[in-house]
Amino acid sequence: MFLRRQLALAGILLAVLVFANPLSAARAADKLNIVATVSMVGDALTAISGDRAKVTTLMGEGVDPHLYRQTQSDIAAMVQADAVFWNGLYLEAQLEEFLEKLAARKPVYAIGEAVPVDLRLSSEDYSDRYDPHVWMTPDLWRHAVEAARDALIELDPAGAEVYRQNAQSYLADMDMLAAFARESLASVPQEKRVLITAHDAFGYFGRSYEFEVVGIQGLSTESEAGLQRVDEIVNMIVDRDIDAIFVESSVSERNVRALIEGAAARGHKVAVGGELFSDAMGSSGTYTGTYIGMIDSNVTVITNALGGKAPAAGLNGKLVGS
Ligand code: ZN
Repeated sequence: MFLRRQLALAGILLAVLVFANPLSAARAADKLNIVATVSMVGDALTAISGDRAKVTTLMGEGVDPHLYRQTQSDIAAMVQADAVFWNGLYLEAQLEEFLEKLAARKPVYAIGEAVPVDLRLSSEDYSDRYDPHVWMTPDLWRHAVEAARDALIELDPAGAEVYRQNAQSYLADMDMLAAFARESLASVPQEKRVLITAHDAFGYFGRSYEFEVVGIQGLSTESEAGLQRVDEIVNMIVDRDIDAIFVESSVSERNVRALIEGAAARGHKVAVGGELFSDAMGSSGTYTGTYIGMIDSNVTVITNALGGKAPAAGLNGKLVGS
């Protein structure tokens, strides 16, 4: 209740700040200065804002947002920014308190929360929360991209036309990606559609593309996987003759290795099907360091490791190796 009132108050303050922002007049010459928490959010903002904004992303390659705590320089960047964008839905769990306080002072947008409630999966870890991994399918993430576009227009109305055009082109790329994902993943044989990963980041992916999804750790990486959980999944791998399981770029491989060794002890060989990008994109400046590249890579790796057919270099011919 208190939180809700605080958020309502923050909303009013936000409206006042936007309306009466003394920087608005000066902005014609200046770029918007915005901060994004995770790279998926930063990628959308960079693409949509073009050269009208300077986007600083706090979490880079391989960083786990469930565990991430803001540094002194992050705090300085957020305090100086015109606006801060995050996924929300309790993804950036350790930053939530700070961002809620900051929302009383400047616009703070949780763009993952633009995904309508009826399309969200509930959280098994927290009864009053939702699965935060809404970027994992382009069909869902487009709600967040549209929210980012609308927020930029609100912050900088003079750039509205630029933001609309850039967003349209980004969304068109996402539509191509969505079609590629549907087609590729549909080629995986029914009985092979089991996706075993380090943590439960693929719930939305599984629902959209009809894969059974098993995470060794839960929706958050905050809790440790127990030995019993590892044993259960080893049994599943052996009983169902699963050939490949997956590591994630932002989560330790330790539990995945435990599964491989557990299965080997029972005479079953299971391989690492590849590395998936769950909660962080690849290196900045590379193809997988973009949202399109990240999801293209996931789709291509999963399809080919589980017996389906996708071009090895992915949707745009830009994936290298595997
Ligand atoms: Zn996660």
